[in-house]
Amino acid sequence: MMGLLSTTQEGLIMQAFHSTGFAHKVIFAVGALEQLGKAVEDFGWQRLLLCTSPSQQSAGHVSRIAAALSSRLVAIYERVQPHVQDAQVSEVLTLAHQHAIDAVIGLGGGSPIGIAKAVSSALEEELTGKAVRAVTPIDQPRIPVIAIPTTYAGSEMTPFYGTTRAIEGTTRKTTLSDPRIVPKLVLYDPLLTCQLPKGLTASTGVNALAHCFEALYSVTCNPLSTAAALGALRSIWNALPSCLADGANIPVRTEMLAGAYLAGFALSSVTMGLHHGICHVLGGTAGVAHGIANGIMLPHVLRFNLEATASQIAQAADALGLTDSGQSETALAETIVQQVDVLIRQSGLPQHLRDVGVPASNLPRLAQLAFASRTVQSNPKPITDVTQLLVLLQEAW
Ligand code: NAD
Repeated sequence: MMGLLSTTQEGLIMQAFHSTGFAHKVIFAVGALEQLGKAVEDFGWQRLLLCTSPSQQSAGHVSRIAAALSSRLVAIYERVQPHVQDAQVSEVLTLAHQHAIDAVIGLGGGSPIGIAKAVSSALEEELTGKAVRAVTPIDQPRIPVIAIPTTYAGSEMTPFYGTTRAIEGTTRKTTLSDPRIVPKLVLYDPLLTCQLPKGLTASTGVNALAHCFEALYSVTCNPLSTAAALGALRSIWNALPSCLADGANIPVRTEMLAGAYLAGFALSSVTMGLHHGICHVLGGTAGVAHGIANGIMLPHVLRFNLEATASQIAQAADALGLTDSGQSETALAETIVQQVDVLIRQSGLPQHLRDVGVPASNLPRLAQLAFASRTVQSNPKPITDVTQLLVLLQEAW
C-alpha cells in the first residue's frame, strides 16, 4: 500500500486482517440435550465414545446421553482429570481403537473436551499421516469431536488444545492448534450448568471474560472476533454476578452460557497472548486449576498490557455499562481493568498465587517457562526480558 495512500489516509484506514471460520453445527437451547440423538443421526455417526469427568455421572448427565444415543454409544471414559493428562489421552486412544469409533464426545468442562480433541487429533494423524502442523483450515476430520460443555471455559468453539506431560523432570502443558478438531457438533444446554458450583461458575466465568480481553487486543484481532468479544462481555458482565447469587436461575444461566459461546468464538480465530500463555504454565507446571489461574492473573496481565492496549480495552466500556464522560481512552481502560478486578474479588476467587500452593521459590522457573512460550511471545506488548514476567508473577504471588 506504500505510496498509494497519504499518511493521513493510512492513519484512517482499517487495519488489514486475516480471519478463519470453521464448519460446525451449534445447537443452543434450554433442554438442547434432548436433540442429541437426532443430531447424531443426521450426521450419520454410528460408534461414539464419550469422555467425561465423574461429576457428570453423579449429575445424571451420562445416563441421559446413554439413553439418547442407545447402541451408538460404544464406550465411556469417565475419569478425565484436569489439564488433559497425556497418560489419559493414551488410555482413551486405546479405547477408541478397541471400539473402532467414528466420533468422540467431550462432555463437561475444558478438560473432557480437550481430551476428545487430543484423541481426535491423534487419530487423524494415524489415519491420514498428516502432522498437525501441515493441516490447512479447510481440512476436515475423519473422527470428529462433539462437545457438550457444562462450564464456561469455551473450548468447544476453538481449534486449540493443550496436553500435560512430564518433560525434563517437571510437567508441562503444550498447546497445539488443529482446525480439524473444532467440534463439528456443539450442544449448549443451560440446564447442564445449573448444578455448576459457585467456585467453578466464578472461575470458568472469569476464564470466559479473559477470552474477551485477549481477543479484543490480540495481535490478530479481526472485526468478527471483536464483535463477538464485545457481545460476550455484555452477557457475562450482566449474568455472572446473578449466576453466583442464584445458580438455579435458568434465564441468567442461559445468558451466561451464551456469553461463554461468544467468548469462545472470539478466541477461536485469534492468537492468544500473555494471559493464556502464563495460565497454561501455572496449570501445566504448578498444577493450578485453569479458572483459578485466570482469576488471579487477569487483573495483573490487563494492567501490564494497558500501555499497549488501552484503545482496545476501552472498546469494552459500553458493554460494561460505563458511560462516556469524556475521559481519555487510557483513563477509560484503567477504569475497566479496575472494574474487572472488583468483579473477580467479589466472586470469591483466590487472589494470590501463594493461596493456591505455588511456592515463591518456583516463580523464577515459571517465569522462564512462560518466557519460552510462543503464546506469551505473541502478546501485543512485547516481552523482551524474563524479568518482566518474574515481576508480574511476584505481584500476583
Ligand atoms: P475442567 O474441565 O478441568 O473441570 C473442572 C472441574 O469441574 C472438574 O472436577 C469437573 O468434574 C467439574 N465440573 C465440570 N462441569 C461441572 C458441572 N456442570 N457441575 C459440577 N461440576 C462440574 O475445568 P474447565 O475450567 O472447564 O477447563 C479447563 C481446561 O480446559 C484446561 O485444561 C484449559 O487449558 C482448557 N481450556 C481450553 C480452551 C481451548 O480453547 N482449548 C479454553 C478454555 C480452557
